[in-house]
Amino acid sequence: MNYSDKSPAEGPLDVIVVGAGFAGLKAALTLKLAGKRVRVLEARDRVGGRSMPGEICGQVIDLGGQWVGPEQHLLLAEARDLGVATYPQYTRGASLLSRQGKVSSYHGDIPKLPLLSLLELGLLERRWQREMRSLPKDAPWTTARAGEWDAESIESWILKHVRTAGARDFARTLTRAVLCAEPRQVSYLCFLNYLRQGGGLETLIGTEGGAQQDKFAGGAWQIPSRMAERLAGDILLDAPVLAVEQDDDGVTVIARGERHRARHLIMAVPPLLASRIHFNAALPSKRNALNERMPMGSVIKIHIAYERPFWRQRGLNGAVVSTDRHFNVVFDQSLGDDSLGVLVGFIDADHAIAASALGEEARRQLVINDLVHYFGPEAAQPLAIVEQDWTRETWSRGCYVAHTAPGVMTSFGDVIRQPCGRIHWAGTETATEWTGYLDGALQSGLRAAGEVVARQW
Ligand SMILES: Cc1cc2nc3c(=O)[nH]c(=O)nc-3n(C[C@H](O)[C@H](O)[C@H](O)COP(=O)(O)OP(=O)(O)OC[C@H]3O[C@@H](n4cnc5c(N)ncnc54)[C@H](O)[C@@H]3O)c2cc1C
Repeated sequence: MNYSDKSPAEGPLDVIVVGAGFAGLKAALTLKLAGKRVRVLEARDRVGGRSMPGEICGQVIDLGGQWVGPEQHLLLAEARDLGVATYPQYTRGASLLSRQGKVSSYHGDIPKLPLLSLLELGLLERRWQREMRSLPKDAPWTTARAGEWDAESIESWILKHVRTAGARDFARTLTRAVLCAEPRQVSYLCFLNYLRQGGGLETLIGTEGGAQQDKFAGGAWQIPSRMAERLAGDILLDAPVLAVEQDDDGVTVIARGERHRARHLIMAVPPLLASRIHFNAALPSKRNALNERMPMGSVIKIHIAYERPFWRQRGLNGAVVSTDRHFNVVFDQSLGDDSLGVLVGFIDADHAIAASALGEEARRQLVINDLVHYFGPEAAQPLAIVEQDWTRETWSRGCYVAHTAPGVMTSFGDVIRQPCGRIHWAGTETATEWTGYLDGALQSGLRAAGEVVARQW
């Protein structure tokens, strides 16, 4: 639907929301319910941001965010309210681990590593649980050991504290899989905070009981699409915000060559994207510094269709974790045993940057080679491959989420949710729980809308 075709709200606006992802849409709907006149300005020609529809061999798929866990209460409630049902991720059978050139099968969420590595991993998990619990939810940078942890990259921490090759491989692959960044690029404090806000290691990487437990029937992208229907007339698409002018009475936002005026503004875009906008009243230097120092991860999401989910007949659930190949996390995305077989997977971090630079044909061959390595020759002849390269998305500049390098969180992190005059900040990066996830985006939209409503207008 082209929401821009509906006639926009007349008269002075109370709030402009920049960005029509989950966060911006939730903020706008909350404000509208509170009786405020809102307008959402969205750069793309669609709503949803990092949630996006696609199609493979007639099956509707999510090219962006898709899973929901039982602890993601805001997202589940939003979906219920909008009539979008969930169904479980297929888990029957064994998963595969590819490591050091060999493929082995395992059950549960932790891959089958050598015994010493597994023992060390158990100890590591206990240590991470203990350390992450010491991080205050709203201010992880204030924990007693914040300086020490933020001075380390994940990689330097691994080299100091992890002995076995298996546990090192696991920690590196985990970083790539959840943050789409290399362990040397991310601070250990950022890593601990990511674990904390996602409920710990098992919840974060788990299927049953974890963040990958369920999917949305027909796609997660329906949620923003239906939210947008409730805002029709209040959303302008193809309207990249280029500049924001702030004065004593309000804000003027420049998009599509037009000036939009409101009393307040919610910036519901990733920090890096906010850093590309010109602010006439310069933002506080700490805020600028933070926006410029929250790079996005790198990921290419790829779907591959086969005539049947042949792995299911072989007692496999389609899930793969790989520490030695490009296509390093794979899940089953099929709708049934006897219909189209679909796998979905990710090329993360530096592998994504490298794969993005390849031609399409070479990248597809790379994916097929990896799948043949995992599943055997049956994987060699897919019906179709659909890829979504988030590293090349102008209005995301990477995915799933922003991360911070050593030193950033302790130097600048405390301003992440701090309003700058009439400008309030939303987006999953500002959430205190499930940051990086759809649920965190909703939380941030609700919080920012609440801040605006509570202001002395
Ligand atoms: C491949 C992939 C897989 C993922 N998997 C999951 C998953 O399984 N489960 C889960 O919960 N999460 C997942 N995520 C993460 C989830 O999609 C995001 O956390 C969430 O969508 C972020 O929402 P947001 O509203 O904060 O930001 P965004 O969705 O990024 O919304 C920001 C909006 O602002 C717009 N914008 C940017 N700059 C401007 C500008 N200057 N002017 C106007 N508009 C602008 C953008 O176009 C965008 O629409 C995944 C993401 C990706 C990419």
